[in-house]
Amino acid sequence: MTTIAFIGLGNMGAPMAKNLLKAGCKVQVFDLVEEAMLELESYGAIVTKSVNDAVKQANAVVTMLPAGEHVRAVYLGDHSGGTGLLELVEPGTLLIDSSTIDPESARIVAKHADDKGFEFVDAPVSGGVAGAAAGTLTFIVGGNDRAFDRAEQVLKHMGKNIFHAGKAGDGQMGKICNNLMLGILMSGTCEALNLGIDNGLDPKVLSSIMLQSSGRNWALELYNPCPGVMENAPASNHYQPGFMSKLMLKDLGLGLDSASKSQSSVPMGALARNLYAFHNAAGNEELDFSSLFEFYQKNR
Ligand code: NAD
Repeated sequence: MTTIAFIGLGNMGAPMAKNLLKAGCKVQVFDLVEEAMLELESYGAIVTKSVNDAVKQANAVVTMLPAGEHVRAVYLGDHSGGTGLLELVEPGTLLIDSSTIDPESARIVAKHADDKGFEFVDAPVSGGVAGAAAGTLTFIVGGNDRAFDRAEQVLKHMGKNIFHAGKAGDGQMGKICNNLMLGILMSGTCEALNLGIDNGLDPKVLSSIMLQSSGRNWALELYNPCPGVMENAPASNHYQPGFMSKLMLKDLGLGLDSASKSQSSVPMGALARNLYAFHNAAGNEELDFSSLFEFYQKNR
């Protein structure tokens, strides 16, 4: 039986770990929040007291943490003397980080892992909490061919589409490009719908027109931001649940940081990031990112 150490049991990590359990893996979990671990225990996971305990006799480690600083601390150790898991795992253990972080941090961790003879992949996800629960996530993987082949055997229990983006860090870069595009698409969709409404159009009719015309896009097709147009979209449920505006702001920020390093022009991404910064500052950070629609409304 495959033994997997799963570290980080938040909104995404908990349902992902449950799917590994469903697939018959032995899962040893660790999170700083004890309640998160206890919930997983009721699904058959083994609760541990530290990263050190979690990785004992594991064939693979999956981390699902908030940001680059957490990933660096968990793998490489921290300033308060915490030992990084690269010092703790047994020879041959496969290392998978599915957090969304800056590509530079992913490359640093990959280099340290390689120096110690471990295979590491960055494997950020697209699909959100619903995709994590359904086991239909898209994984965008960076790492060498052998590491990718090994990682696929674990990731297939949690996702449907598994892409090999390229070398270490390229998974993060692929995810960042996708979400930069998504932030821009969502802003544009909100803007166009609101313009139509301000000029007397019915948003349902306008959405149908654009869906059959050249303005068609993912947000219109599956995630309409105007309340009442699409029954199952977060917009029709007070923008709950979904992909929080604060996470979109984080991802657009990662896009801008990468653009600054490569001296790439991202004027649309910069605008979208600023729109989300205003929107979050107005108290909307926990709402789904399609709530940006409200930012455009005159009566708000
Ligand atoms: P979250 O904040 O809900 O969960 C993160 C978990 O990591 C928390 O339970 C926290 O206690 C734990 N943690 C932090 N530091 C730790 C440490 N040193 N040791 C052990 N546990 C530690 O975040 P989330 O929504 O699950 O997202 C996780 C990652 O996935 C983020 O990078 C996020 O950007 C990305 N992501 C999230 C979504 C989404 O819809 N929520 C979608 C795609 C990608």
